[in-house]
Amino acid sequence: MHSYITHSPAETHALAKAIGQRLKKGSCIAFFGGLGAGKTTFTRGLAEGLGLPDLVSSPTFTLVNEYHAPGCISVYHFDMYRVTTPEALETTGFRDYPAKEGIFIIEWAENIADELPENAIRITIAGNGDQPRNITIEGNDSLADLIG
Ligand code: ADP
Ligand code: MG
Repeated sequence: MHSYITHSPAETHALAKAIGQRLKKGSCIAFFGGLGAGKTTFTRGLAEGLGLPDLVSSPTFTLVNEYHAPGCISVYHFDMYRVTTPEALETTGFRDYPAKEGIFIIEWAENIADELPENAIRITIAGNGDQPRNITIEGNDSLADLIG
């Protein structure tokens, strides 16, 4: 497990961008942390690191936003806020997205904790408002590559 403290959205964005630059096809980022923790801020940094245009918004009113750009790995950005049962997950088509061909980013991973891909990198963001954020990153063996 690796822990970081960020003192501003810009610091969170920078940490995320550095990680985004190292993500590989098939990676899955699973966010834990409540409303306003900084999940979408982190996701924008990941997207910038991946070279994707700055289009990332919170997908709260849609289940998934897709980001595609020439020469970039595609990103599938899910918001599981309203997905609170295994049945709800099935009806979303979550499993039909091409996990091996793209990168999954999952907000509200708490809600599908038992269904997360085995290789998920778990990012927990604690703190809200103007407080510093305590960001912990846990995952599998590729984590060392990811965060040096
Ligand atoms: P979530 O997607 O988790 O609901 P957002 O990324 O949409 O959260 O919002 C996070 C809010 O917290 C933003 O308004 C951002 O400016 C603010 N914020 C303050 N400090 C930080 C920090 N250190 N890291 C990330 N966001 C921060
Ligand atoms: Mg969000």
